[in-house]
Amino acid sequence: MLGLMQNQALTISSLIDFAERHHGDGEIVSRRVEGDIHRYTYRQVAQRARQLANGLDTLGVQMGERVGSIAWNGYRHLEMYFGVSGSGRVLHTINPRMHPDQIAWVIHHAQDQLLCFDLTFLPIVQAIHSRCPSVKHWVALCDADKLPANSGIPGLLSYEALLARQPETFTWPDLDENTASSMCYTSGTTGNPKAALYSHRSTVLHAYAAALPDVMCISARDAILPVVPMFHVNAWGIPYSAALTGAKLVFPGPGLDGKSVYELIESEQVTYAAGVPTVWQMLLSHVQGKGLRFSSLKRTVIGGSACPPAMISAFNDQFGVEVLHAWGMTEMSPLGTLCTLKNKHQHLSEDEKMKVRLKQGRALYGIDMKIVDGDGAELPWDGHTCGDLLVKGPWVIREYYQGEGDTQAVRPLVDGWFPTGDVASIDADGYMQITDRSKDLIKSGGEWISSIDIENIAVAHPAVALAACVGMKHPKWDERPVVVVVRKPGLDVSREELLAFYAGKAAKWQVPDDVIFLEAIPMGATGKMQKSKLRELLKDYVLP
Ligand code: ADP
Repeated sequence: MLGLMQNQALTISSLIDFAERHHGDGEIVSRRVEGDIHRYTYRQVAQRARQLANGLDTLGVQMGERVGSIAWNGYRHLEMYFGVSGSGRVLHTINPRMHPDQIAWVIHHAQDQLLCFDLTFLPIVQAIHSRCPSVKHWVALCDADKLPANSGIPGLLSYEALLARQPETFTWPDLDENTASSMCYTSGTTGNPKAALYSHRSTVLHAYAAALPDVMCISARDAILPVVPMFHVNAWGIPYSAALTGAKLVFPGPGLDGKSVYELIESEQVTYAAGVPTVWQMLLSHVQGKGLRFSSLKRTVIGGSACPPAMISAFNDQFGVEVLHAWGMTEMSPLGTLCTLKNKHQHLSEDEKMKVRLKQGRALYGIDMKIVDGDGAELPWDGHTCGDLLVKGPWVIREYYQGEGDTQAVRPLVDGWFPTGDVASIDADGYMQITDRSKDLIKSGGEWISSIDIENIAVAHPAVALAACVGMKHPKWDERPVVVVVRKPGLDVSREELLAFYAGKAAKWQVPDDVIFLEAIPMGATGKMQKSKLRELLKDYVLP
């Protein structure tokens, strides 16, 4: 017997309709590429998203066709989130930090028909447009009078001119909730990038889950600063969860340095911010260096790579800002786990609480996870045993978009579970802790060493800004860890001092064999350390 409830599809257009009707005066504030601050409301987002939908009709973009964006976090990008997906097209957010050849490759692979870009990225578009035959219209996200003369891009349109001609009314199509809504390519650390193709249903369910109190705890009383980019995994879904709750959104545009982020947090009274550890490192250096305080910031979600304990304590102890450690993947929309305490932890000492906070956290409803051994047998949740981490749920991919053939790479599921490539333990309370990405684990004398553990100890040293641990071939032990370190500006630490710093913090055999000081560590397109590049850099290195 079926239930007798209304069968309303979970669509992205319903999110912006809701925000317009119930939080019409909710604020959206953006630092623009033009340098100034732009502010308007959900009512205007909705109206302009409808104008954009009309504009796409005018330009002949069909339902299901892909519309690309190469843009910072800002209000026009937000309008694309709702106008493109809401009208039945698929928003393909492109990471501008990829190599131009890769950008051309993903545009071709996705067969983008129209591409909108911030003027910052004009040089990229100039370099690749002739290699993107699928793109029929190039649109610069700017006013008509800011459109560059002689851009070399045939028929270049201005987004504002396109919208200005359009009516403010548009009837969103009744879509099947499983219709594709947006897509994001993984950074492609190995081989060509692969795309996760999200649906309206997966996006709305993820937005619900992300807003829960034990997840990102997003409400109408929040002012949220997503520093995490809208060009990578939909800024962790924050734009959708914000529309669902009516939270104020504050967009940093291109200003991701510590000073710009701090100024925006203060001027807009941001309560809650989200980003990868490297961004928070810049913010912390700025506020610590200048002796500043936060007057409104209460929580920050940190994920994308392991959050070092030193960062959690700096936010917590020095600034009273709660850090929520999160884990996820492009293939998971991205949220999988988030670290919030349970009731039983409330009375623990600060040190004991810290041990919990360092873990990547508990699965949110909608995600199931397990760890398995090399034969696929499930391993116990004892907090020690490590295994390959697998997940499943309504916002985890089933397969990658348009791969060739029925290969493991395209259809990655194992008995319905998605293998994450991460190695983790899970404790009896369900808290998952990542030991490493399976390819970054270091095997020494038959034992595994977690590169994350070794890095966390190094960055706890006051003179260390960044640390990356990699395994080096060793004739006897197979591999031995070395730690590559970037010092903080103006501070010094020697190889011997740093090695001595490991005493008592790691077992003797886990202490790195060497410390290599570099000016910078290669960073990937999503702000993560690129260990493959680092290994290449160190290919002639010989262990002492
Ligand atoms: P890619 O860099 O492949 O595009 P994603 O941005 O999808 O990847 O990142 C997914 C991977 O990032 C995870 O599989 C995991 O290895 C790593 N990761 C994400 N969050 C964390 C975290 N909090 N701690 C440790 N590793 C993390």
